[in-house]
Amino acid sequence: VTSPRARHPWAWGWADRFPDDTQRDTLATMVGALLGVEALPRLALPTAADRKLPPSRLSVAALPAALQGFVRGDDDARAAHTYGRGYLDLVRGLRGDYAHAPDLVATPRDESEVEATLAWARAAGVAVFPYGGGTSVVAGFEAIARPEHHGTLTLSLRAMRRVLSVDPVDRVAHIEAGATGPELEAGLGEYTLRHFPQSFEFSTLGGWIATRAGGHFATLYTHIDDRVQAVRVLSPAGVWQTARVPASGAGPDPCRWILGSEGTLGVITSAWVRVLPRPRWRLSASVRFDAMAEAVEAARAIAQAGLHPANCRVLDPLEALLHRVSAADGGAVLLLGFESADHDPTAAMDRALRLATTAGGTCPGGVLRRFDAEGVREAASAQWREAFFEAPYLQSALVSLGVLVDTFETAVPWSRFEALHADVVGSVTEALQRVCGGGRVSCRFTHVYPDGPAPYYTFLGPATVGQELDQWAAVKSAASEALARHGATITHHHAVGRTHRPWYDRERPDLFAAALAATRKVVDPTGMLNPGVLTD
Ligand SMILES: Cc1cc2nc3c(=O)[nH]c(=O)nc-3n(C[C@H](O)[C@H](O)[C@H](O)COP(=O)(O)OP(=O)(O)OC[C@H]3O[C@@H](n4cnc5c(N)ncnc54)[C@H](O)[C@@H]3O)c2cc1C
Repeated sequence: VTSPRARHPWAWGWADRFPDDTQRDTLATMVGALLGVEALPRLALPTAADRKLPPSRLSVAALPAALQGFVRGDDDARAAHTYGRGYLDLVRGLRGDYAHAPDLVATPRDESEVEATLAWARAAGVAVFPYGGGTSVVAGFEAIARPEHHGTLTLSLRAMRRVLSVDPVDRVAHIEAGATGPELEAGLGEYTLRHFPQSFEFSTLGGWIATRAGGHFATLYTHIDDRVQAVRVLSPAGVWQTARVPASGAGPDPCRWILGSEGTLGVITSAWVRVLPRPRWRLSASVRFDAMAEAVEAARAIAQAGLHPANCRVLDPLEALLHRVSAADGGAVLLLGFESADHDPTAAMDRALRLATTAGGTCPGGVLRRFDAEGVREAASAQWREAFFEAPYLQSALVSLGVLVDTFETAVPWSRFEALHADVVGSVTEALQRVCGGGRVSCRFTHVYPDGPAPYYTFLGPATVGQELDQWAAVKSAASEALARHGATITHHHAVGRTHRPWYDRERPDLFAAALAATRKVVDPTGMLNPGVLTD
C-alpha cells in the first residue's frame, strides 16, 4: 500500500518537491548575487514538534453523532487548514506559528453533511470558513471569529470532488466544488475546462468561483466567470441555485452574485461549467523588444485587433530572465500563443506577429507549431510554462532563505499604464530600499483587454529574520497605495481576503458595500460565514 503524496505542511506544493539543503545553498548563491547580498541565511525548517497551536475550544466528542464521521479536531488537521500560501502564510508556517488554527475541520462528503454542519454551527454560535484547496494568497479563509463566536470551524470541500456529468450537446459539465484542476480535467474525457491558474494543481473549482480566479486565457475568457454557466450554493438560510441558461437579461445575475463572494454568501457545492474540446492546433512565438514600452504597444495593438490570442504576455527584462525565456538578453519579451480545436490559427498568429514587428519586435525563433490530432492534454509544455508552474516552489524556498518575496497584480486602462508602472516600480523600489536595504521589482502582463492590461508584479529583497512581517507590510502598503493613486484595481484575480480589505473598501462604492452587507444578513442571518471578509 502506498500512502497518498503529501502536501508540504507550510510551503507551496508537494512535500517531496521542497529543495534539499544543497539545492537551497545553490539558490542562495544565485539570488544573493541578484540582490547584491553576500550570503543569504539558510533558515532551519520547523518540524511538527515546533508547531505552536492554541488548544481547540471545541471537541469532536461533544458533536452530534452525525457530524463525528467527517469532523476532526486534531492538531495535524487544524494546522493543515490554518493558512493559505501567500508570503504572510509562508513566514508564519516557517516560524511554526499557527495562532489562527481553526478549532475544528469538517470535510463533508455530500450536501446533506454540508447542511448538517451549517445547521450545527449556527445553533452553536461557531464561525464557519469555507475552504477549497487552501491556496489563497490574501488570507481568504483565516479562522478569525468575532468575540461573540464560541469557536471556529473550517469547512473543506475536498471530499466533494466528482465530475457529475458532461453534456456533449450543450458542452457543459456539472462538477463538485472541491475538485482540483487535475481532478476535474481527468474527469472531463475528451473535453477540457482549460482554466489553468498558476495554482491549478491544488486550487479547486469552488475556490476559483469564490475568488473569481484568472486562468489560462490571456484574452476573452480571462476569469472563471466566463466559464461558469450556473452555481449551486448552500447558505445558512437555504439553497441558492441559479438558472442553467447560456445567457439571460433577467435583472441582476444571481450567478454573478456568487462569483467573488469569497465564502461569505454560502458554500458553493457544485457548478455547471462550459467545457471545450481540447485544442488540436497550438502555435506559439516569442517576440523580443529593446524596450518594455514597445512590447506594451504591441500587446495593445494585438488586444485591440480582435484576434483573441490564448497567450499575450509581456515580460519585462527581469521577468524574462526569471522565467528562463529563450529570448531573454536584456530586452523585453512578448509571448504569443494561439490555439484551436477547430481550425489552424496561423492567419491570426501571422497578423499578431505583423502587429508586434510594427511595434519594433523581432521573432528570431519563428513560430512553434504543434498539431495533435487527439487534442492536447497537458497543461504545460513550453519552457516558460514549466518555469511558471515551478515559480511557487521557488518562492517558498526563497522564504526559507530569508528573502522577502511576493507578488501583486492589478488592471488599469492603457492610457494610465505608463504612469502607474513608473509609480509602482518607484514606490516599491523605494520601500524595499528603506526596509530591506535594497531589492528588485519585475513586471509581466498576465491578461490583456482591449481597454487595458492586467500587470503582475514580483518584488524581492533581503528580509531581516524576525521582522519579515513588518517589512512585508511596508512594501505591500507602498504598492497598494501606488495602485490606488492611479485608480488601478487592488486585485485583478487574487481576490480581496483580509489582505486587500483596506484598499477594496476604498475602491468600491459605499452603497454597494451596504447592499452586500444587507445580502449577507439575508443569507447568513447570524453572520457566521467568513466574518471580516468583504464586509464587517
Ligand atoms: C502559487 C500560487 C499561484 C496562484 N496563481 C493564481 C492564478 O494564476 N490565478 C488566480 O486567480 N489565483 C491564483 N492564486 C490564488 C489562489 O490560487 C486562487 O485565489 C484560487 O482561486 C483559490 O482557490 P482554492 O480552492 O485554493 O480556495 P481557498 O484558498 O481554499 O479559498 C479561497 C477563498 O474562497 C473561499 N472558498 C473556497 N472554496 C469555497 C466554496 N466551495 N464555497 C464558498 N467559498 C469558498 C474561501 O472561503 C476563501 O475566501 C495563486 C495562489 C498561489 C499560492
